[in-house]
Amino acid sequence: MKRVNEEMSFWDRLYIPALIKGMFTTLKHIPKKKFTYQYPEDPRSVDERGDRYRGIHKLTKDEDGHIKCVACFLCATACPADCIIIKAAPAPEGYKTKEGYQREKYPENFEINMLRCIFCGYCVEACPEDAIRMTSITLPQYFRENPKDGKILGGSRNDFIFDRDMLVANNNHDVIKEKYQKGLSVLS
Ligand code: SF4
Ligand code: SF4
Repeated sequence: MKRVNEEMSFWDRLYIPALIKGMFTTLKHIPKKKFTYQYPEDPRSVDERGDRYRGIHKLTKDEDGHIKCVACFLCATACPADCIIIKAAPAPEGYKTKEGYQREKYPENFEINMLRCIFCGYCVEACPEDAIRMTSITLPQYFRENPKDGKILGGSRNDFIFDRDMLVANNNHDVIKEKYQKGLSVLS
């Protein structure tokens, strides 16, 4: 190995051997299997996601089928992009805490502006109720699978504001993900 202050030889100063060596390394990798996909042209770049990929959020439900969120605002406070808006309201009758007591609050609305979101996952970390999680679904995937009136959404800013019901509906995306993993059509 050459030391930093060592004087360069004639061949070093030509740079040609180093160039040839670099080109050889490049050529050597051309026929090898690729691990990267062109985004978003190659559908695999959108469809193939690891379990730990941080995609769009979902609001989880308890065993009674009620939204788990207790409208404590911790996720909104932790969010560095300031993209969560929660409207708290008294929880309807039957919304129970983990201990079985009537809950005080629930989110009348819960919005995430996906255009502002940086998918950092801080909201998930902050939640004391495991009420918000991230799916491995990307926004292009979501829009492709949820056309409205036959049109693919994502053309206007409003399409990126996910309200409470959309976030709850994202629980179904686990089914979609499973289909992707098994190579089945997600449209069936
Ligand atoms: S993932 Fe990060 S930026 Fe997005 S809503 Fe959660 S805390 Fe905010
Ligand atoms: S999602 Fe979790 S952290 Fe956010 S308001 Fe609901 S309970 Fe609180």
